[in-house]
Amino acid sequence: MGRKDARIPKSELRKIAVESINELADLSSTAGDQNLARRYNEMIDLIAERMDITLPQDIKRKFCKKCFTPYDSSSRLRLKKGIAVIRCAKCGDVRRIPYGAGKQAIR
Ligand SMILES: [Zn+2]
Repeated sequence: MGRKDARIPKSELRKIAVESINELADLSSTAGDQNLARRYNEMIDLIAERMDITLPQDIKRKFCKKCFTPYDSSSRLRLKKGIAVIRCAKCGDVRRIPYGAGKQAIR
């Protein structure tokens, strides 16, 4: 521990933010409680937005961006020509996420 609050470079902040997002995603998936998971997901979204971070696909696919409810077995997932169509079981929001194997079409 030292004094490192003086000036943190933006690249460092982003790194910390990405780490936090990964940790929160971990917590969210093991939360076991939907309300708690939703809070974690909301934080993920907030950090990503503030730090201008594009969430990795595997995290994006984990929860609804509208109500932050984690997708589970009650959410509809359909695969159509490389696009995953997920419907939120809670708010009914539909998302289409490119499902490229290895290829990353979007940034
Ligand atoms: Zn939703």
